[in-house]
Amino acid sequence: MYHLKPVLSGLPLDALAEILKPLPKFRAEQVFQWIARGVSSFQAMTNLALPLREDLERRFSLYSSVIAGRVADPDGTVKLYIRLHDGERIEAVLLSDGEGRKTACLSTQAGCPLACVFCKTGTRGLTRNLDSGEIFEQFLHLRSVEPEIANIVFMGMGEPLLNLPELRKALEALTDGRGLGLSKRRITLSTSGIIAGIRNLAAAGPAVGLALSLTTGDSNLRSRLMPVTLSNPLPYLKDVLYDYQQQQGRRITLEAVLLGGINTRQEDSDALAAFASGLEVMVNLIPWNPVEGMTFEGQALREPSGREITGYIQRLEQRGLKVTRRLRKGLGIAGACGQLGPPGGFKAHEGP
Ligand code: SAH
Ligand code: SF4
Repeated sequence: MYHLKPVLSGLPLDALAEILKPLPKFRAEQVFQWIARGVSSFQAMTNLALPLREDLERRFSLYSSVIAGRVADPDGTVKLYIRLHDGERIEAVLLSDGEGRKTACLSTQAGCPLACVFCKTGTRGLTRNLDSGEIFEQFLHLRSVEPEIANIVFMGMGEPLLNLPELRKALEALTDGRGLGLSKRRITLSTSGIIAGIRNLAAAGPAVGLALSLTTGDSNLRSRLMPVTLSNPLPYLKDVLYDYQQQQGRRITLEAVLLGGINTRQEDSDALAAFASGLEVMVNLIPWNPVEGMTFEGQALREPSGREITGYIQRLEQRGLKVTRRLRKGLGIAGACGQLGPPGGFKAHEGP
C-alpha cells in the first residue's frame, strides 16, 4: 500500500491549516480534533458538511500506518507491531506500572544507526527516519488498546535526536491543547548522547524531559560499548547537559544499562558518580534485558547478578545519588528496553 495522497495525522495545527487552505482555520481545528480522537475516516467528522467530507477524502489520507499484530505480557505490557505505508515494521509498547500509570514507549526511527553493542535495535542498522505522522500514530494505536495513557517515553526503536525535525512536529501535535493536549512534563526523550541535538533542544525546545543513556562514565569503555561516544565525547556531553538544565530547569535522568561483568565494577559506579557531579540528576538503572547471541569483544553478554546490581546501587547511594531501578517489563514478549526489533529485519518478521 503506497500513499499518494498527503497524510494529515501528526501535522501541527498550523501546518494542517496551511495544507487545508482555502478552508478557514476553524475547519482545520475541527479536523485536528477529530484526528486527536482517532476517528477512522473523514465520514465520521460529523460537524463537516457531507460534500466537504467527501472532498477531503478524495484529496487526503488521515493516517498512514496500521496495527499489524499485538502481543500482551501477563505483567500488563502490550507490544504493537505497526506496519508503515512502505511495508516497514516498527514497534510501540504500552507499559503499566504498579500504581496503574500508563506510559507509551514510542519509536522514532525504523532501526537505528548507532550500533550500541547491547541493543537489538542497533543490530539492524537504520532503515529510515519516521515522519511526524508515523510517530504520532503510534500513540493513537496504543490509545486504542488503553484509553488512559498520559505519559510518553521515546525509548523505543531509534535515536530521537537524529530525527529531531519530525519528532518536533509530532510533539507539537501531541501537546497542542486543541487536540490531545498531553503535558510536556509527562514526556521524556531518551538519547544516547547526541551533542548537537541536545544543544538544539536546549535552545529551541520543546521543554520535554531528557534522559541520557550513559551506561558508563568511563570514556574508553563507553566508546567500545556505544560507538556514538567517539564523535560525542563525554566531557562535552556533560557541558551541554549542564546548559540544557540551566535552560529548561528540569532534572535530567542518567540511564545505565548494567551488563554483567562489564560495567558493574567499582570504577564504573565511581565514573558515573563523577559524571553526575554538578548536574541535578536521577539515576535509572536498567539490568540488561537478554538478547540472544549478543557479544562484546568476543564475550557473550549476560545479565548482571543480584549482587552486582545491589552493590552498584549502594555505592551510588553512598555518594548521595538518587537511584531507581527500572522494573522489568515485557520480557516475555521481547518488549523490554533494547529488545525491540527481530533479527533478520522487520519485513521478514511476522507479528502474531
Ligand atoms: N536511542 C535512544 C533511545 C532508545 S533506547 C537511547 O539509546 O537512549 C532506550 C534505552 O534502552 C536506552 O537507555 C538503552 O541504553 C536501553 N537499552 C538498549 N538495549 C538494552 C537491553 N538489551 N537491555 C536493557 N536496556 C537496553
Ligand atoms: Fe540506537 Fe539507543 Fe539502541 Fe543505541 S541503545 S543502538 S542509540 S536505539
